[in-house]
Amino acid sequence: MGRDMPARANIASVARLASLRAAPQGSGMNASVRAAFATAAARRAPEVVALTQRLTAIASPNPPGDVRAAAQEAAAMLRALAPAAEVSLHATDPQVTNLVARIKGAGPGRLLAYNGHLDTYPVNEALPWTVPPLGGLLRDGRLYGRGVADMKGGIAASMLAFALLAEYRATWHGEALLTLAGDEESMGPLGTKWLLDNVPGLAQAAGVIIGDAGSPRVLRFGEKGFVWIEIEAAGRASHGAHVHLGDNAIDRLRAALDAVAALRAMAPEAPPSVTAAIAAARGISESLSGAGEAAVLGSVTVNIGRIEGGASPNLVPASARAACDIRLPVGVPSARLLGALHQALDALPGITWRVLRCFEPNHTDPALPIIRHVHQVAEEVLREPVAVNMRVGGSDARWFRMAGLPTVVYGPTPHNMGGADEWVSVAELEAIAQIHALAGFDFLSVENAA
Ligand SMILES: [Zn+2]
Repeated sequence: MGRDMPARANIASVARLASLRAAPQGSGMNASVRAAFATAAARRAPEVVALTQRLTAIASPNPPGDVRAAAQEAAAMLRALAPAAEVSLHATDPQVTNLVARIKGAGPGRLLAYNGHLDTYPVNEALPWTVPPLGGLLRDGRLYGRGVADMKGGIAASMLAFALLAEYRATWHGEALLTLAGDEESMGPLGTKWLLDNVPGLAQAAGVIIGDAGSPRVLRFGEKGFVWIEIEAAGRASHGAHVHLGDNAIDRLRAALDAVAALRAMAPEAPPSVTAAIAAARGISESLSGAGEAAVLGSVTVNIGRIEGGASPNLVPASARAACDIRLPVGVPSARLLGALHQALDALPGITWRVLRCFEPNHTDPALPIIRHVHQVAEEVLREPVAVNMRVGGSDARWFRMAGLPTVVYGPTPHNMGGADEWVSVAELEAIAQIHALAGFDFLSVENAA
């Protein structure tokens, strides 16, 4: 590991010196460069607050998902923060504009990408806000506003990291990218998916860091998948006194829903590294996310979220329907789940069903360098143990992981996310900015060493 190598002033042979000079920077990186970078990251970390405030001032709620002004503001900020970077905007529809910033190091090497989404939950002024939703109010160590936690604070942290890497670009090899996207809250393809398909080099990134909502105490290496389905039951109407003349659609739907709920018992075939990571993270992670999280991360869950049918107690209903959100752990691919659904439902009388939405569970091997570097740096900056775990909810990370890119989600704790008085801790934001910066520096230095 280059960063742990003492700067030895030994009498090396001429040949060895020559090979060191020819090697990429990482192999020659000495502790003093790393220390200078760490000092700069710590000194500049408080800037993350003003950056978050500027981003928060530009509303970008989804729906409707118009992120044009937010992307333009972010571009202006980046041009000032990192004048040497190449910054470009890419409109993918009348409302969605994505941003790409890139900076090259001292020589060729692998690429690291920071990614974030510019859209937020609806501002919803009707909620009982006690602060101006776009005001970026700072009080008692908390920064308030729509999107500060999900995820304008995380974007600001990545911006600062990118600016520091730009300033120190003579000391590392490879390339750093910052991509900001729209169309995330809507789970659409016009944001990060578009970037992956169109930004040169991004699809070959050796590591991706996303500052989406989470916790500084837990870095996330994977996310569950999901299958949303709608089930319709058809029957034959009759009077409630003459049930022998009808077929009750609600009874048929009940049987179908019981069959879907029974899928909770499916046994995942997850790689041992994933199962072990969930178990090891449980202590820290459940203290933050609630008891039972580990079990949910490792199993199929079924939520029956909507149900309707029937008109009156004394009528046999002719139709009924329901919608379910089925979440898949690593080790239960959607094809296996869909196969089980066919087996459970297709032979039931009067039942039809369809898939509304489907995403695979995804993960990055927790032993890969991007996870390792973020983990090491997080424990170094926070001076306490940090867990490495899966994530219950979904994010844009899935696009990267589905394309095979090692990806970690590491961002601040969301408070009142989507509700009134959304806030984020300033201390957490500052720590995350430092960690994004140092982890990026280590990754580009060490992984691009000869
Ligand atoms: Zn988010």
